[in-house]
Amino acid sequence: MNTNTTTGGLFGNAALGGVHLGAASTKPEGASTPAAEQGEQTVHNVIIVGAGPAGYTAAIYAARANLSPVLFASSVSPGGALMNTTEVENFPGFIEGIQGPELMTNIGAQAERFGADIRYQDVEKLDLTGEVKKVILSDGSVHLAKTVILSTGSEYRKLGIEGEDRLSGYGVSWCATCDGFFFKEKDIAVVGGGDSALEEALFLTTFARKVYIIHRRDSFRASDIMQKRAFENPKIEVLWDSEVSAIDGDSNLEKVTLKNTKDGSERELPLNGLFIAIGSDPRVDMVKDQLTLSEQGTIEVQGRSSKTSIPGVFAAGDVIDPTYRQAIIAAGSGAVAALDAQHYIENM
Ligand code: NAP
Repeated sequence: MNTNTTTGGLFGNAALGGVHLGAASTKPEGASTPAAEQGEQTVHNVIIVGAGPAGYTAAIYAARANLSPVLFASSVSPGGALMNTTEVENFPGFIEGIQGPELMTNIGAQAERFGADIRYQDVEKLDLTGEVKKVILSDGSVHLAKTVILSTGSEYRKLGIEGEDRLSGYGVSWCATCDGFFFKEKDIAVVGGGDSALEEALFLTTFARKVYIIHRRDSFRASDIMQKRAFENPKIEVLWDSEVSAIDGDSNLEKVTLKNTKDGSERELPLNGLFIAIGSDPRVDMVKDQLTLSEQGTIEVQGRSSKTSIPGVFAAGDVIDPTYRQAIIAAGSGAVAALDAQHYIENM
């Protein structure tokens, strides 16, 4: 199910210049490495941070607007969440579906075709104050830009137990929409008690023979309507006061161990699939002290735009989205961010 491909360096680098600024006026504090000196010379039009569907799509739009965007992708896992799934069947344009890694490779290559400069280097810090933004990499180099697009995505929360990572893509999943299809007539379980868990469970009943919802308490936090639907669905059985204490299987998931949170007793539950839906956290560590965040912890944007609380800083994709978290929506919001950045630069 899971190809778990790592694509570091897939697209190569097409170095493009930006606008030159006098070095003396832009010397960043604490930037003393040769790389930093090299980086400080150019003020790019757009630096995009994060290479999922939002970042890559922003790069396509910005490159086509002749903004010569630089995109910093993770050196370890570029491509975002879709790199961890196999077949993507709901991204428009692919009649027979497409493998997640292939889709991301294609969108990245499409951005490069128009001149986007994709670099597999990790951003460590951002200084978003002032007209010229500073993007500081883990090697200490400082890169300057008129605008920054943040598309750092979100990460699914994990249970943090043995077997979870090892069997990820082999029965353990964080995305029913992506992987549910592979569990036709199988026994599966969803962990969690929020709207995501119940929504995933309901969606999975389309395929599965039986869907357990494993929840650590004796009541859900999900909305009433979702609870009603789950309780009424004959394929769903709720296992209250239960947490997963072990995930087992050789090459594929075979069973989990459930621990009763009230009396501590344990029992085994044979399963083909385990979907973990215990929430996700937007990746905002680098900007949480600089930008206004929403109540849900995402970067707050103004209306339907990608404008954050700092002029010249835009955000797109899962990092602004507490609700939908779909690749196509992230891609669309990446396009919005590039258009907003273009408009901002034109009016500078
Ligand atoms: P959530 O509301 O934070 O729920 C997370 C669930 O996972 C909670 O039931 C929590 O248990 C459980 N949990 C957390 N950590 C756990 C752990 N380590 N082990 C076991 N269980 C754990 O997250 P969400 O469901 O992803 O929803 C996020 C937001 O999106 C919410 O505002 C939600 O309403 C919204 N959303 C809306 C829809 C919709 O309207 N259709 C769909 C999806 C999401 P406790 O309850 O015990 O804390």
